[in-house]
Amino acid sequence: MANIRTVDKLYINGEFVTPHGTELFDLINPTTNQLIGRLTLGDEEDTRMAIAAAKATFKSFSKTVPAQRIEYLRRMYEAVMKRKEDLINIMIEEYGGTRRFATGSFGNLTNTILSMIAILDEFSFTRTVGVSQVRLEPIGVVGIITPWNASNSFVVGKLATAIAAGCTAVIKPGEMSGLQTQLLLECLHEAGLPAGVFNIVNGLGAVVGAEITRHPDIAKISFTGSTVVGKTIARGAVDTMKRVTLELGGKSPNIILDDADFSKAIPMALNAAFLNSGQACVAGTRLLVPQHRLDEVKALITEAVEQVKVGDPQHEDTTLGPIVSKKQYDRVQQYIRLGIDEGAELLAGGEGHPAGLEAGNFVKPTVFANVTQQMRIAQEEIFGPVLSIITYKDEADAIAIANDTTYGLQAYISSSDIDRANRVAAQIEAGRVLINGIHHDPLAPFGGFKQSGIGREYGVYGLEAYLEPKAIIA
Ligand code: NAD
Repeated sequence: MANIRTVDKLYINGEFVTPHGTELFDLINPTTNQLIGRLTLGDEEDTRMAIAAAKATFKSFSKTVPAQRIEYLRRMYEAVMKRKEDLINIMIEEYGGTRRFATGSFGNLTNTILSMIAILDEFSFTRTVGVSQVRLEPIGVVGIITPWNASNSFVVGKLATAIAAGCTAVIKPGEMSGLQTQLLLECLHEAGLPAGVFNIVNGLGAVVGAEITRHPDIAKISFTGSTVVGKTIARGAVDTMKRVTLELGGKSPNIILDDADFSKAIPMALNAAFLNSGQACVAGTRLLVPQHRLDEVKALITEAVEQVKVGDPQHEDTTLGPIVSKKQYDRVQQYIRLGIDEGAELLAGGEGHPAGLEAGNFVKPTVFANVTQQMRIAQEEIFGPVLSIITYKDEADAIAIANDTTYGLQAYISSSDIDRANRVAAQIEAGRVLINGIHHDPLAPFGGFKQSGIGREYGVYGLEAYLEPKAIIA
């Protein structure tokens, strides 16, 4: 029997407080499907109290100088570093992220703080444009709404940017992340930031998220999550003309050009597709390969799938953990069924659990070949370890297929000719294009073209999204 923990406090105005809301939410370990915790959900009243605290603190916090905010970010960094192992372990237990992924995610979390410190060190909040002085002023109270697939890393990335800008925040993390949020909160509390700078309200999207979206004292929403919810937030936000940064879904193409080293590019393609056990908005889930090389690709992919280690996310060498919840598991299973029904060729994996892993939400690493653009598995985000192989005739065809999607978050290109890869990259409609590898740059902008979102996070672009330019013309 697992040890059942209780998370029954919210964090408002620098204190752990008992919520007004009373509804309980079960926290389930996806590796075993055992109950491991109970979260008390906040409601609209709690959200309004958190917004009031953030609004009151904004008056003074917006006047702080960058050096002060750098000091706060440093303290945040030190506080999370002290609990590094605990933060990684709770992510593995509650979310089911593999040890490798959870460790990488912790690295992203700390990098976002460090990169904001570095930017703040150099950033100028006043500029001269034409004959005017332009002041970049903190936008106000920010609503931060995040999903479950890298919960603490999203929360900290957005909060660090808000703090760098001089904004205060009300945060609603994914409700399935209650234990992870609680641990992060303990760290952030220890960092000793002024009361009200950040406030965390656990709760449902339709309750707490909706109140954040409609409340007139929220100036901006930074949201990461599904495109469907992103659209709901954008619609709701316009009534009070809130600014929105929306990081939404993806169906990222991975173009293997015919001059690529297939022995490297194909195993890498599988890693890109199965990032975060397939629960990554940036996963390279459409593998575009030259038609005349399909047989070779199939052989290499089959070999690579055999190397995938599905199982207990605690183990150092596990590469594929469980899906976050039974509901998400069922959704992935439906897509696998759909791919078979649509007539795609099942090259590896398929329906059901891998043998011996029936207790958790484990999915077989699944690859479909002979996928066409008309199939839903080529167009819709599955959010599980399911890769679709699509063939192209020539480079122009590859680019056309890559762009034939409503999404545009990330793309991957492999080629032995960097100039050619750059030429192709220039024609891809996506916020990030990665050449010959799975790269990340915490200083480069991150966000989507088309329905993958609005705005950018990270680096200077991310910071400016929390600032309102004011031109003073004398
Ligand atoms: P989701 O959109 O269902 O939920 C995200 C957050 O929004 C949660 O905190 C949820 O409670 C809240 N929410 C739900 N309904 C709401 C409403 N009506 N108003 C306000 N808030 C509401 O997404 P999810 O299922 O938690 O996460 C998976 C999705 O997130 C995938 O589609 C994935 O592509 C996307 N994602 C995008 C990125 C990115 O950076 N682009 C990163 C990770 C995940």
